[in-house]
Amino acid sequence: MAIKNTPTKKTTSAKPVKTAVGPPVKKVAVKKTDAGTPLSVVIRRRIEAQKARFHANDNISAFIKPGELESLVDEVAGKMQAVLESLVIDTESDHNTKNTSQRVAKMFVKEVFNGRYVEQPTLTKFPNVSKLNELMIIGPITVRSACSHHLCPIMGRIWIGVLPSKESALIGLSKYSRLTEWVMCRPQIQEEAVVELADMLERKIKPIGVAIVMDADHFCMQWRGVKDRDSKMVNSVMRGAFLKDSNLRREFLSLLERR
Ligand SMILES: [Zn+2]
Repeated sequence: MAIKNTPTKKTTSAKPVKTAVGPPVKKVAVKKTDAGTPLSVVIRRRIEAQKARFHANDNISAFIKPGELESLVDEVAGKMQAVLESLVIDTESDHNTKNTSQRVAKMFVKEVFNGRYVEQPTLTKFPNVSKLNELMIIGPITVRSACSHHLCPIMGRIWIGVLPSKESALIGLSKYSRLTEWVMCRPQIQEEAVVELADMLERKIKPIGVAIVMDADHFCMQWRGVKDRDSKMVNSVMRGAFLKDSNLRREFLSLLERR
């Protein structure tokens, strides 16, 4: 059959056009999968499915699978890089800021906000064998946190007072520091942080009373804002016996070595 080099007439054939690649191309609605979805969105969907809260000072470790934190660091680094670019910083020729996005991302996820992403430290509990019911004071415990409003550092100290009951389960002294660190390594508001810590200690130890005093420098007052270098914030939570018994409260407060 002779081949004519003339334009072919369009036909109305409904037959699918064969391509060189393979079978007829059919348009199919592609079901969306998690592939290509940012990890933060995947984690967020898991949290929302459980109707859980994920405020800055919440721990979301239950929704993060092993190995995912590394990928989260990479995602944050990418977005941190965009922040640096928007700040018009030449991260290509400025050797000081070349890897800043990666460093900041790692610092947020693995260090200063790590208390959001890792599980609560395990607490060894001891039965109160000697039936201690005397006031115990633990502190000062160093606090390193950051404010939720500006992500500026909050550096301070915490004292914890516990009046155990004879039935209380006691926890080792170092565990008070580890629990405090876990709560504080999140963007926080000082008033909420001490309440969260007090709630946790009440649940764990079931004491007759628990008291917390926190004394901290807020860098959002010193580095920015009013630039008042000497301003500090001190606040306290008193629960149970510390609330009812003013002598106990006075004893606790007088024993804090605050300077
Ligand atoms: Zn602030």
